[in-house]
Amino acid sequence: MDDYSKREKDIIRTGIQEALLCSEFAIKYLDQGPGRDQHLQQITNLVKNYCLLDHHLQARPNVIASMSANEAARLAQRENAENPGPVEDTIPDYSQIFSQKVKDATKNVTVENHAKFKDFHKKVQELVNKQDGTGDGDDVMYTEESENYLDPISKTELVDPVISTKCRHRFSRKSIMEHLRGKSFAQCPIMGCSAKFSAEDFEDDLVTAQTLRRRQLNKQI
Ligand SMILES: [Zn+2]
Repeated sequence: MDDYSKREKDIIRTGIQEALLCSEFAIKYLDQGPGRDQHLQQITNLVKNYCLLDHHLQARPNVIASMSANEAARLAQRENAENPGPVEDTIPDYSQIFSQKVKDATKNVTVENHAKFKDFHKKVQELVNKQDGTGDGDDVMYTEESENYLDPISKTELVDPVISTKCRHRFSRKSIMEHLRGKSFAQCPIMGCSAKFSAEDFEDDLVTAQTLRRRQLNKQI
């Protein structure tokens, strides 16, 4: 991946993390109702834009390859032409054509199906249910919650949680870094998951970290 794409990937990742935090604060501090819904909708739209940008990033290499091939053919044609005319005439506005082609290549994508969007939506929904008390009985929630916040390697509560960008599985940073120690790539330790990742394929799970802090506080009260 080139530096430009890597930087944009970082922007998308951090942006969505921030959006999750914003949603969490909105759910926590705003009263249930149209005001809060509107706020959440705006944040959701922002996440959709990030996901669309991610689709554009994924489409770019193919567009670049096809444009380079077209360009090579065009130049070859010009070489062979008897009256090629001024070179400017054969050089169109590439940046405009490029962005149009990227848009065309992604016009049928559904951002709602993007893994990051689904993950965001699911978390926001969980937070809303928890806050508004529309979830199942408290006991059930608690059991599910405890399981969700266990590090699958150490089987203890998550500490400094990170998420694999390859398969969205969540671990304590220390556990997964130990799992990866001395290897450039390792298989995801979750049974049935075929993802392979490196230490760079993890992002901070700020929302879970925040939830864990809140759980800790609740236990102390
Ligand atoms: Zn996995």
